[in-house]
Amino acid sequence: MAVDAPVGHARTFTYGIPASFTVHPGQLVWVPFGAQVVQGVVVELSSAEPDFPTRDILQTVEPAPLLNREHLQLGQWLSRYYLSPLFAALSLMLPPGFESRVRTTVFPGEGKLPDGETLREEASEALQTLDSRGRMTQSDFVKLLGRRGARDLNRLVERGAVRREASIPRPSVAPKYQAYLIPSQPVGPEPVEGLPNLTARQQALLEVVRQPPQHLPLPEANREFSARTVETLWQKGLVAMKWLRISGGPPPIRPVGEPGGPGRLTLTPEQGHALAEITAALDASAGAGPAAPPLSDRTFLLHGVTGSGKTEVYLRAIDHAIRQGRRALFLVPEIALTPQTLERVDAWFSGRVALLHSKQTPRQKFDQWWDIRGGSFDVVVGPRSALFAPVDNLGLIVIDEEHEWTYKQEETAPLYHARTAAFELARTTGAVVVLGSATPSVESYYHASRGRLRKLELPHRVAGVSTQLTGGDRSIGEARDGEASDGYETESPPSLAKVEVCDMRRELREGNRHIFSRALTAGLRECLASGNQAILFLNRRGSSSIVQCRDCGHVAACRRCTMSLTYHSGPARLLCHQCNYSRRSLTECPECRGRRIRQLGLGTERVVSEVSDLFPGVSVDRLDSDAARSAGSAEEAVARLASGETQVLVGTQMVAKGLDIPNVALVGVVLADIGLHVPDFRSGERVFSLLCQVAGRAGRGNTPGRVFVQTYDPENYAVHAGSNQDYDEMYRKEIEIRQRFGYPPFNQLAHIVYQNADADAAQRQTAAIADELKRRAAAEGRSDIDVTGPAPGLPPRLRGRHRWRLLLRGRNLADFLSSTDFPVGCTLDIDPAHVT
Ligand code: ADP
Ligand code: ZN
Repeated sequence: MAVDAPVGHARTFTYGIPASFTVHPGQLVWVPFGAQVVQGVVVELSSAEPDFPTRDILQTVEPAPLLNREHLQLGQWLSRYYLSPLFAALSLMLPPGFESRVRTTVFPGEGKLPDGETLREEASEALQTLDSRGRMTQSDFVKLLGRRGARDLNRLVERGAVRREASIPRPSVAPKYQAYLIPSQPVGPEPVEGLPNLTARQQALLEVVRQPPQHLPLPEANREFSARTVETLWQKGLVAMKWLRISGGPPPIRPVGEPGGPGRLTLTPEQGHALAEITAALDASAGAGPAAPPLSDRTFLLHGVTGSGKTEVYLRAIDHAIRQGRRALFLVPEIALTPQTLERVDAWFSGRVALLHSKQTPRQKFDQWWDIRGGSFDVVVGPRSALFAPVDNLGLIVIDEEHEWTYKQEETAPLYHARTAAFELARTTGAVVVLGSATPSVESYYHASRGRLRKLELPHRVAGVSTQLTGGDRSIGEARDGEASDGYETESPPSLAKVEVCDMRRELREGNRHIFSRALTAGLRECLASGNQAILFLNRRGSSSIVQCRDCGHVAACRRCTMSLTYHSGPARLLCHQCNYSRRSLTECPECRGRRIRQLGLGTERVVSEVSDLFPGVSVDRLDSDAARSAGSAEEAVARLASGETQVLVGTQMVAKGLDIPNVALVGVVLADIGLHVPDFRSGERVFSLLCQVAGRAGRGNTPGRVFVQTYDPENYAVHAGSNQDYDEMYRKEIEIRQRFGYPPFNQLAHIVYQNADADAAQRQTAAIADELKRRAAAEGRSDIDVTGPAPGLPPRLRGRHRWRLLLRGRNLADFLSSTDFPVGCTLDIDPAHVT
């Protein structure tokens, strides 16, 4: 049994099953745990008598198992790999919205404290209050007891002075079940008359139950034949009971007939090749389950620039899977920012698509879970959590924009990556996996080059994309219809937007101190004057202040780990957030002896106000995670841009994703360097992919797009490769750095953050953990393991708690870490997406 309590990862507990009911693996139940009642998931049944005392399961939450075998296995794998409690891993796959807390109520008891045992004043007052009120919630009572209230409560309960009762809540969104009476044995031709000891009434009820459709709603039976009659027949074993869920609303309408969407396009040869490989893998794995061909034969990396026709390939692959009678999961990085893709999926598989999104009410989410499980949908679309939808007969998992970090859960355990988990789910289900991206993650590309994934390339944009997006004089469909099937070759494919790199050092040398270069200012003016829209982009995630020389672009970096140093005020110091190296701040540049040193730190508000100053009267909007936090406002900002109301949108990386606004003719990256020098080994890769995406945002319409990238460091490989959209250049440089420093994919990383309200204790405890890990690595001969830190977290303080961090590099880290007991306040992140 996996229980809902803060227990070690992968830990399970043994419970007895009372004679009054049966349970199955995957079933959700209530169990006693310590002094509490908590939920548990049955993981395994055993008939062996344990040689230790066990307690019994109290009752089931649901009459039938909620998790199938593959999902149970996936949960167990997640728990082991990400070192998270098993229940937390399994609950990813449970229906959303079950009330999982037990409410405990306390009552005055009969018992008395033994003579000589006294209570603190606070406690006896609390007891009087309880006496006068008759009952209280346990948490209120503990508050009255004051300091050490929990311990006092236990003593009072032991002495019988307080009685407590746990009430198991009904599910907050109750599934609607109906009990039916069914025949307990197959109905044969023989009449039931001859049965002994049956009253006429019982006989009549039995007749009704045995008549087609052979199930009678229990309430109806009780009404017409009395509850006594029903009970007697049931006890005699002449009828059985079955629980069936009544669906919330009307069943979704499923158009009968062939699946299939528009399908009018003729695929390019590259698309055709990619699709053929995927469908061959689908055919080879159909019906095979875990016995399907090895995972490396049925996982694909579809690498193609924006507009190269990847989505078309996904849709046809999904179509193929559905024709096989299988189902598909389609993961997208962010629902709000991928409206076009979602519309296409929905249009193609109309009526058979379940879309998971955050705006759904708990009730809707809950009903949708059951409808998916009931088989109402062939395709489930959603963010990373959609991977855990209760889909049976899974044939295909598509992960669009696989490089996006939103696929990594970074807040609550298990801190899983949807891509890694998808491989595991595919392993047990026999599903095919397709990862797609214009800028694949360095890890995926490396695995593909080593044959662990199959690489499929779509190197060119499909012809006619831009005409389609303008909604102009002819659409793609028309173009197709009137042309030969090789029409894509006769039209010249639209090129990606032109990228201009603005050297901010030169701007400064030539007397321009403004945050916008002269080229960007002129470009903006032109763009606005011709009635077009612009997006200004600022990379702010992990926005530590770095220190940079404005003359030569040099950034202060740590000599030991090449990470950029972070500026700390007070006595001005520079600190490495990886290894804790620290030095005095710079007053003179070590490279060029220049003295114009400054901290980089620039916010979206500042950019908004600069635009308003330069172009009075122009409507400027802001989209960043602060602005987007209030639900729906991201969508609203996008809608205002799409409607033309907003002329200039200023935003963080959120705006780089998936926006296809034909009228956006200019994109400016205000300062590429901010993202570049975030102290994270993936910063180069991220800046590259952002620049590529940003370039893809401009010029989707008639007007050729212009992209401006401002930087103090134009020679940097990520900026250079990004402005040319040259994936190979970035990859070659990046993989060399990764190998040299032992970063993924050459090693695994684990990030350990320890928090404590006490500053000294936080640092000391983290150091003690580091020592212990180093000692064990040495004792076990694990020379591959390297422990860096402790170093201050980023931010070093969060909600009043001091944070310190450790970074582990090595192989099979979950294995190594699983035998260590970490103190409360420790967070373990295996394969972290961010190491700041
Ligand atoms: P990606 O997902 O790589 O950005 P899409 O699949 O969205 O690319 O394709 C971009 C545009 O090109 C879409 O409007 C799509 O309908 C169109 N398209 C895709 N494949 C073809 C094709 N073979 N012929 C003509 N148009 C195509
Ligand atoms: Zn360092």
